[in-house]
Amino acid sequence: MIIENPIVLGEPLKGNFRGYYSSPAKKNFLIIYLYCKACRARGDDKMVLCKDCRTCRDETIKFVDIGPHDEAYKKKSYWS
Ligand SMILES: [Zn+2]
Repeated sequence: MIIENPIVLGEPLKGNFRGYYSSPAKKNFLIIYLYCKACRARGDDKMVLCKDCRTCRDETIKFVDIGPHDEAYKKKSYWS
């Protein structure tokens, strides 16, 4: 579902998580991902450490984490 409609299903994150999208799965789980088309539209590729953004196609979606709501956010430092 996310692949088909990454922007509609995702909620853009803010602050330290800017550039990432999260989508709820089940009750308390989140799927965190990057969507390169959105990275570029907002120039976030520099901010979110989407390292090889330039070599990815626009439609690229990078799933970076899934987990219980709180855990997923705590682990952000590992994503990059
Ligand atoms: Zn990207």
